[in-house]
Amino acid sequence: MKKIIADRTKLIDASGIRKVFALAAQLRDPVDFSIGQPDFDVPEQLKEEAIKAIREGFNKYSQTAGDEILKAKIAQQIKQEFGWEKPAVLVTSGVSGGLLLAFLALINPGDEIIIPDPYFVMYKHLVNMLGGKCVFIDTYPNFNLPVKKIAKAITGKTKMIILNSPCNPTGVVYSQGEINKLAEIAAAKDILILADEVYEKFCYDGKFTSIARYCDKTLLLRGFSKPYAMTGWRLGFAAAPYSLREVIEQMTKIQQYTFVCAPTPFQKAAIAALDYDITDFVDAYRRKRDILYDGLKDKFELIKPTGAFYAFVKAPGRSASEFVEKAIKNNVLIIPGNVFSEKDTHFRISYATGDQQIERGVEILRSLC
Ligand code: PLP
Repeated sequence: MKKIIADRTKLIDASGIRKVFALAAQLRDPVDFSIGQPDFDVPEQLKEEAIKAIREGFNKYSQTAGDEILKAKIAQQIKQEFGWEKPAVLVTSGVSGGLLLAFLALINPGDEIIIPDPYFVMYKHLVNMLGGKCVFIDTYPNFNLPVKKIAKAITGKTKMIILNSPCNPTGVVYSQGEINKLAEIAAAKDILILADEVYEKFCYDGKFTSIARYCDKTLLLRGFSKPYAMTGWRLGFAAAPYSLREVIEQMTKIQQYTFVCAPTPFQKAAIAALDYDITDFVDAYRRKRDILYDGLKDKFELIKPTGAFYAFVKAPGRSASEFVEKAIKNNVLIIPGNVFSEKDTHFRISYATGDQQIERGVEILRSLC
């Protein structure tokens, strides 16, 4: 048969994750620290809103850019939070959908994209598929934002800097000082910041600082998946200041010929989600973070996570992949750090699981070093 698969598929290497899932398939009742989604269910009130929307007939395409009421409410909240007048808004199929549209709208072959390493997996592979060049900025060992290194890496080909705070996989939330410095650099060098704030509500030790407050060159991506546990509903949004509306317009044009629109009944439920208070969930996740961190800190090298629901832990021994295999053989599912990084020294724990599971997993991991 003729070669039918496009060359670009080779630019995605999913082997690390596949290996974990292949090993995991053989396990019975493992401690699952691998999943990047909340363990609670969608709040009842929001489920009811979605059911009501389906019953009331909101089952057809919505406008490409999203339900008018939802868009208006997002715009109003954005204006209130960042002081942006007339922000441009696009409702997307999750933050993943927003990322793909943003990259399709912005990246030319040869463009350089600055990405702090470790990073969310999708960035690297999508940038590569589009012919862009990832410029990774090493943030080891404490995973703070290395603002000076970022400034030095900017060239005439730099298209954007990706900022993911709170960060997957490190659990780090960048400080006000780091954010201010990066905003200054973006303004001085006229560079776009793509702010992936999918975990913005999951901050445990103080307030979250969004770069959007300080930088009008921000393309903001936020989502509904993580705060309301609706990862399967595929909802997020992109927003930008009025001066960047062209970016949102181009993303909308591409949405028209790809996703068409985000799921219509769930957009209706998202209107209510924007007012839904998740403080209780965040408090529960802070407690999980504490159980995990207190359980591991004397045996492993790890930075105390302050956001999202991940810990990025240094593996004992030479290679993190080897340690991950050992952990999986002992019934604990973790993800090797090289899935999220150019290095193979750490592993990622997602503590979005039951407290007893966390305690069980901690005990097993402790016994392995
Ligand atoms: N960005 C980051 C940093 C993530 O960790 C994830 C999901 O794990 C996403 C984006 C995608 O989220 P969504 O479900 O909204 O597509």
